[in-house]
Amino acid sequence: MTIRSDNADLISNVLKLVDNAVIKYNEANQRTLSDKIHVTEACGCLRYAYFRRKYKLEGEPNYTTFMGIAIHDSILKFISDKTEIHVENDIIEGYADAIIEINGQKYVFELKTVKKLPTKPYKSHIEQVNCYMNMLGIDKAVIVYVQRSDGKKTVFVVDRDPDLFTVTLDKARYLKKCLEDNKPPKIRDESFCFMCPFRKICEKESD
Ligand code: SF4
Repeated sequence: MTIRSDNADLISNVLKLVDNAVIKYNEANQRTLSDKIHVTEACGCLRYAYFRRKYKLEGEPNYTTFMGIAIHDSILKFISDKTEIHVENDIIEGYADAIIEINGQKYVFELKTVKKLPTKPYKSHIEQVNCYMNMLGIDKAVIVYVQRSDGKKTVFVVDRDPDLFTVTLDKARYLKKCLEDNKPPKIRDESFCFMCPFRKICEKESD
């Protein structure tokens, strides 16, 4: 048997096939956004959330997103029968990964995949589980970070904070107003700028 790798046209077509499969997988797993602000929008960079609703991104084979979704959904499937729990009020809506019960204590369970395990939970993730805790009436949450390359894990326990929930709701109202007025929000979270697909637009539409 001869293995040839010099057929450029064939190789390019095969690679395109694989990339397109990843694009389709990511698109199929994207949530449709409603008029309500999504919990993750209110807890992350408000400008990113704004641009994501206003501009269509070209389909790119994002393998980090692909691996993140695949690992996340595969683990979640075997954590509990009841996952992706929908929560909503008059301003925001979202999906808690799961609710678990250990030693008689209920916890909101949130799973994140990361390149490198953090030493403390990300601010946006604390805010996110805090929304779920407040909307589900549960006082504690666990955030589990799984390192994509080798499955190493770290777990953080977070307590419900009603004041922080008020802050998040205010940000959601502000984002909604910005979307209605077609004005990018001034509130930004710069911790993810390095990987933001809207960097150029964000700089151009400076506030
Ligand atoms: S570049 Fe940074 S501040 Fe601007 S939208 Fe992206 S994450 Fe937000």
